[in-house]
Amino acid sequence: MTEFTAKRGDLDLRFTPAPTAQEGIAGHAIVASRRPAGYESEITLSAEYKHLLVRGRADGYDPALNRLEEVKTYRGDLDRMPANHRSLHWAQLKIYGWLLCRERGLQEVNLALVYFDIGSQKETLLAELHAASDLQAFFEQQCECFLAWSQQELEHRAGRDAALTDLSFPHASFRPGQRQLAEAVYRAASGGLCLMAQAPTGIGKTVGTLFPMLKACPGQKLDKIFYLSAKTSGRGLALDALACIGESDSSLPLRVLELTARDKACEHPDKACHGESCPLAQGFYDRLPAARQAAVEVKFLDKNRVREVAAAHEVCPYYLAQDLARWADVVVGDYNYYFDASAMLHGMTLANQWQVGVLVDEAHNLVDRARKMYSAELDQAALRQLRRTAPAILQKSLDRLNRQWNALHKEQTLPYQVHAEVPEKFSTSLQQAITEITEYFIEHPVAVDHALQRFYFDALHFSRLLEAFGKHSLFDISKTSHADGYAGNAVLCLRNIIPAPFLESRFAASRSTILFSATLSPWYFYSDTLGLPASTVCVDVDSPFSAEQLSVQIVSRISTRYQHRDRSIEPIANLLAERYAAHPGNYLAFFSSFDYMQKVADLIRERHPGIPSWAQERQMQENEKEAFLARFAPGGKGIGFAVLGGAFGEGVDLPGDRLVGAFIATLGLPQYNPVNEQIRERMDAVFGAGSGYDYAYLYPGMQKVVQAAGRVIRTQTDRGVVFLIDDRFARGEVRELLPAWWKVEMEHGRAMRTAVRAAAPLET
Ligand code: SF4
Repeated sequence: MTEFTAKRGDLDLRFTPAPTAQEGIAGHAIVASRRPAGYESEITLSAEYKHLLVRGRADGYDPALNRLEEVKTYRGDLDRMPANHRSLHWAQLKIYGWLLCRERGLQEVNLALVYFDIGSQKETLLAELHAASDLQAFFEQQCECFLAWSQQELEHRAGRDAALTDLSFPHASFRPGQRQLAEAVYRAASGGLCLMAQAPTGIGKTVGTLFPMLKACPGQKLDKIFYLSAKTSGRGLALDALACIGESDSSLPLRVLELTARDKACEHPDKACHGESCPLAQGFYDRLPAARQAAVEVKFLDKNRVREVAAAHEVCPYYLAQDLARWADVVVGDYNYYFDASAMLHGMTLANQWQVGVLVDEAHNLVDRARKMYSAELDQAALRQLRRTAPAILQKSLDRLNRQWNALHKEQTLPYQVHAEVPEKFSTSLQQAITEITEYFIEHPVAVDHALQRFYFDALHFSRLLEAFGKHSLFDISKTSHADGYAGNAVLCLRNIIPAPFLESRFAASRSTILFSATLSPWYFYSDTLGLPASTVCVDVDSPFSAEQLSVQIVSRISTRYQHRDRSIEPIANLLAERYAAHPGNYLAFFSSFDYMQKVADLIRERHPGIPSWAQERQMQENEKEAFLARFAPGGKGIGFAVLGGAFGEGVDLPGDRLVGAFIATLGLPQYNPVNEQIRERMDAVFGAGSGYDYAYLYPGMQKVVQAAGRVIRTQTDRGVVFLIDDRFARGEVRELLPAWWKVEMEHGRAMRTAVRAAAPLET
C-alpha cells in the first residue's frame, strides 16, 4: 500500500548493485541471530479499515525495548540511498507500528529501521519513538488515500465485468471459422486450460480470440488479459480490434494499454533515467498520481495517448506505461513482456497473484523468440578491449578470466565446436570477475563506464543461464584466428534450442494461455519445444476458403538444392515468365537467399524487360518496406522478389488482385551448418531418434513455406495460384505439412518425373 500512497520524488534507475534475494534472506537471518532471547521475528500483523484489509509482516519486535524493527539489506554507501527510498521505508514501518500498537494495546512504540550492509555485515540503526495515536492518524491517512483509489477500482471492476457479461460480438455475424475459434478459446479459458489454435488467415483471429477471452473475464475472475505479439503490426491489429469492440459498445469501461519498447517511448534518448539527468524523471513520483488518474479516465491508451497524458503531466511515458500495466484490463505488448527471463508482466502476475488470460498472436514465432531470450553470448574481443580500458583494480581478475577463456578453447582446432559443459575453472573466474566488478560499482557509484557496464550485464546474463545449463541448450565456442599467429578470439555461446524448461512457469502462471497462428503444425513440435502443459487442447479451425480458390502446383522438375541452384535459375525464370505471360497480375516470388533471389530477378530483367519487377533488399527501413508493398496495387502487374522467412513472408495482407500468385523456390530449410547439425543431434537425443531432422530443419522450413503461400488467399472471393518449386514438395512427409484444404497438384504433365525423384533423401 505504501508503494502506492507514499512514494514521492524522482525516478532513479541508475544502476546500483543490489543484494540478491538470497543475500537479502541471509542478511535478515544474521540480524535476527544477533538479537537477544525473547526477540520476535517475522510478526504477521493485520487490521481492517473500512472495507480495506491491511496485512503485512514486520521483521522483528523486541518486547524488552518495545522496539519494532524493519530490516533493509543494501550494498555500498548508505548515504547515497535516495531520500524517497528512506521515506518509503519509514512509511512502511509506521504502518506496522500502528498495527502492532493496536494489536497489543501499546500507547507508544520505538520504530527502528535497521540497514544491514551485505559487504561489511554492519548494522546502521535509525530509531524514533512514536505515540500510538500519531501512528493511527498516519495509518488512517494512508488508508484513506488508498481507499479513494481502491473504491474507484472496485467500481471499475464491477462495471467492467457487468459490461463484459452483456458484451455482444462487435460484428453483425461471425466469419466462417471464427465462431469455432471463439468457442474453443472460451472453453479453454473457462476450463483454465492452454489452447493451441491453428486458424487460417482471414477468419479474423484477433477479434476471434480477444472477444471470447473478454467474455470469460467475469466468470473466471480474470484480472487482466495480455495480448502478446512478435511484431508491431500484430499489436496494431489487436488495438484495432479492441477499438472496434469498444465502438460497438460505447458504455464498455475497458482499459486498454499498449506497451512500447523504451527506445521507442523515450522522450530524451540523450539522457539517463534519473532526476539529475532527465526532467521527466525528476519529481516523477510526485506527479505520477495525477498522471495515473488522468490515464485511467482516458481508458484506451495506445502509445500516442500514453505519450499525450505523460506530456500533460510531465512524466516519462515509458515508466508511466509500466505503472499503468497494474490498472489496465487488457495489455497489448511484445512477447518479451511476459516470456523473457525478467519479464515485467510475468513478475507482476506472480507478485499480485493476478488471474490472467494470455493471448499469443502468431505463436509459431515464439519458438525462435524464446530461444533468443534464453541464449547468451560472450565475445572475447570485448573482454580484450575492456582489459585496455578497465580500472587498474579490475585488471587482475580480467586477466585471470582471459587466461581461463584461452584455456577453454586451446585444444579446439575447429572454428566451431560444441562442448559438453562449461569447465568449472572458467565459471569460477567468470563469477570472480562479476563479484569484483560489482564491488567496483559499489565503491564508484557515480563513475559511468559504459563498456564495463555492458560487459558486466552480458557476463551476468551468461552466468545466470550457466546456472540453468542443461540439455535444452548447447555450449559452443566459435573461434576466429589471426593471420599473424596471435591467439584468436573465441565467442562463447549458451545457445538455447528448447525453451520449454524456461517457459513452463509462464504457462503455469496464467489461468489460460491461447497460442494461435495459421501455422502450428505439427502440434507436438510446438508443444514439445515450448513446454506446454499435457492438458493443452489443440484445435484446427476449418478454413473458410475452398480448394477451388487456390491452385497449388508442385514443380518437381526443378531442384533448388544448393548444388543445383545455378542450373535452376533459368527454368525458374522461364516458369515465372510463362505464368506471367499467360496470367498477368501481381506475383510474389520467394527464394532461400538474397543471392539466389537476385540471380533469378536479374535473368527476368534481362530476358523479359517487359515484366515489371522489384526486389527486397537487405535491412530495409519501414518506409522502404511500405514502398515495396505499395507496388502491389489493385489491378497492378509485376513480380516482387523476396526472401522466404523475411519481411514479406508473413504478416502481409494483399487481398483481391493485389496478389494473384506466389512462387516458392525453396523448402525454407534452415542452412545446413555445424550449429543446425548440433541442433538436429540434440533434438534426436531429447525427442527420440529420427525426430532431429524434422525438428531442426523440416518443420521450421515448411512453416515458412505455408506462411508465405498464405499471402495469396486472404478473402473468400480471392483466387490465386501457388507454385511450390522443388521435387521434394512431392514427398509424402512434406505434403502432410501443407494445409488440409489445399488441393495440391503436380505441375501439368510433369507428375511422372516426381515419382522417380522421390526416392532421394530429403536433405540432399
Ligand atoms: S524520458 Fe527517457 S531518459 Fe527520461 S526517464 Fe524516460 S526513458 Fe529515461
